[in-house]
Amino acid sequence: MPLRQGRGASSFWRTTLSTTLDALLPPLCLLCGAPCGMDDATLCAACRRDLPALPALRCPNCLTETPQGERCGACLTHPPHFDCAFALYRYDFPLDRLVLDLKYHARFALARRWGAELAKASADFAADFVIPLPLHPERLKTRGYNQALEIARHCARARHLPLDANSLAKCRATPPQSGLSLKARQKNLKGAFCCTRDFSGQRLLLVDDVLTTGATANEAARLLKRHGATHIAIAVAARALRR
Ligand SMILES: [Zn+2]
Ligand SMILES: [Zn+2]
Repeated sequence: MPLRQGRGASSFWRTTLSTTLDALLPPLCLLCGAPCGMDDATLCAACRRDLPALPALRCPNCLTETPQGERCGACLTHPPHFDCAFALYRYDFPLDRLVLDLKYHARFALARRWGAELAKASADFAADFVIPLPLHPERLKTRGYNQALEIARHCARARHLPLDANSLAKCRATPPQSGLSLKARQKNLKGAFCCTRDFSGQRLLLVDDVLTTGATANEAARLLKRHGATHIAIAVAARALRR
């Protein structure tokens, strides 16, 4: 027993010491390891400056670059079910690393930061509820949390809006979307979501970590509009765009 007690005591002091140091020292940048400012527990100023930016002039619907910032041809021909989109960054190196850090390594400081920034970016879109894109319960069980909900809760708090993380659910597990064409993705998602609330006359802000083809957000928006929502915006940390 003395051995076990000894180990327990040293681990107690290690934890206490590291907690004290964490409180005293500035957090380290997730990308380069340099100390961050005390106001940011994620990135140093230099790494923040280098994050991949969205095109300055872009389609308000899907965020692809357009000459005057007008709606793109694709959105004019096949308007998505969501009315506009907000993103903080282009999904590219090194942002892809940060997205994975939040998704698989529970770096919740990123969700806090992105949620607060999305609240500012989406401020012009009046909304009644903030809704995270849901995970299938099986996926949630293995991962332990939904990264979209982590971002959405901070966005809702900063905007003083109610968060509804229960009415929209992923009721069918879908095979991974990566590597599928847009058509295949759309087929893959048919009936994947279910909604248990009447959103008649409501304006909804849907939140996710990444918008790739938009097929997932589009399917969720289609269902929410069938449940009465009049306007839907999608807010994401990163938008994947063709170069
Ligand atoms: Zn850095
Ligand atoms: Zn577009």
